[in-house]
Order: sequence, then C-alpha cells, then structure tokens
Amino acid sequence: LNLCQPDSEKSCAACCGLYNVRDGTRETLQSNLVRRTELFKDTERSMGAIVEFESYILSLECLEPIEPEIHTCAYIGFIDERFRCPGCMLHPANPDNRGVDYRGLCHYGSLACRSFYCPAWESLEPEYRTLVAETVDDWHLYGLVATDLDFVRSVMSLIESLLGFPPVADRLVSGPAGDDLRAVLALKGNSEHAGGSPMRKSRYYCKASAPCKPLDDEACFSAVADCISLTYGSEHRQLDRESELRDLFERLVSRY
Ligand code: SF4
Ligand code: SF4
Repeated sequence: LNLCQPDSEKSCAACCGLYNVRDGTRETLQSNLVRRTELFKDTERSMGAIVEFESYILSLECLEPIEPEIHTCAYIGFIDERFRCPGCMLHPANPDNRGVDYRGLCHYGSLACRSFYCPAWESLEPEYRTLVAETVDDWHLYGLVATDLDFVRSVMSLIESLLGFPPVADRLVSGPAGDDLRAVLALKGNSEHAGGSPMRKSRYYCKASAPCKPLDDEACFSAVADCISLTYGSEHRQLDRESELRDLFERLVSRY
C-alpha cells in the first residue's frame, strides 16, 4: 500500500510542508488548496508564469513556517477533481503539465521531490498502513496520522495490550470498535483540549522514538498524548487528557 496515496479518497503531502504553517486547520488548508488548484489550472506552463504563481500565492496566504528548515511549498494543490487528494501540481502526472516535470522550479528541486520518503513510508508496518487507510477517510487527518510512527504504533500496541491479544483488522475497523478507533485517531486533527490552537504540526520527519512493543501501557499512553500535544503545539491539560484517552481506549476494547 502506497502510504502517500493509499486510494482515491485521500493522500498525504506532509513532506511538502502542507502542515508547516501557523494555521493548519482543515478549513484554512482546504480553502487555500482549492484556490491554488483553480488558479494553477489557468496558469501558463512557462517558467515565468509558474514562478509568478508562487509569488502570488505567497502574497495571499500566510506561509510563515513553524519550522524554518522545512519548506512550505506553494505548489501543493488538489490533484483530483473532487478536491480530496492534496499533492504536487508540478508533477508530470498532472494532465495540464502534458508529461513535463516542473518540480525543478520548486525550492527543493526535482531530485529531492522525487526521491524523498519519510520514515513512516519506509518503516510503518504493512498491517498498520492498511488499518489507518481503512479507518481514516479525510485527507487532512490522514496526513497527520499516517506519517506519525510513534502515534500509530502506540495506539495499536495499547489496543493489543488492553485486549490481551492482537485484534483482527476487519473487526476492529468495521465493528462497533471502529467508531472508537476513529475517535482516537481523530484526536490528531481536532481535540477539545488543544486550547483552540490552529496549529496542526506534522511529525512526518520523526523516526520512531523506540520500538513500541516492549513499552508498557503507561509509556504508550504517554507517547500517544505527547504526539497529540505536538500536533497543536500546546500541552493538553494532564487530567483531561489522561481521562479522555483512557475512556476512549476502554470503550474501544469493551466494544471490540
Ligand atoms: S510525508 Fe511520507 S507519506 Fe506523506 S507524502 Fe511524504 S513520503 Fe508520502
Ligand atoms: S514541488 Fe516538490 S515540495 Fe512542492 S508540492 Fe511538488 S513535490 Fe512537493
């Protein structure tokens, strides 16, 4: 399964800097990506016009990066007609580019754009990839969850530990527990304990901090909470955070 685009319902563009902005809420990113997509459709395919497009986007959007060493690319748009899959508008597969690769015009350059793969792409377990792809349908949440190795592994390790056996994927995704799993994963996209932060920072560049399996439940709870906190750049209130997480996992396990 291709972690970058597992199916036609969603895709990820985290490593292009999609979430590396001060306001990474779904509403803001969706409206920015739709506008870019429509504008770029009418942009002449010449070096001058493509570079001008970038300047124009920078004048419209606040692309001040959260992390300056990560480029926030103005050429991310939607690559599908239904505006569900964010991706590279300079890619030769964009029909309007007629097979020409324009990625050399972006900050990273074509070679880097072509050859980068994040740690999750390289090492997330196949069964976890499938599970995330089958559980998360929305592009905004998908890019935050699928690229976070510690989060996915800690969540799955906790479920297995609390159940006392490895869950069967179909039953976990489609049964009543699936709603609870979706609620757990959705904490990376929206959490009432985030203090209203508009930040949705991605952990796509983070290697796994430790193999999850030997960690005990408390360490996994803690890892899940830390991953959520980093997303919003704001520490969740300890008591609420703990009880919310524990309630969700307990419910999930009881309904499996
Ligand atoms: S962050 Fe990883 S999964 Fe997402 S587009 Fe980049 S390589 Fe693919
Ligand atoms: S030009 Fe490179 S960084 Fe920009 S969207 Fe395309 S692949 Fe990503």
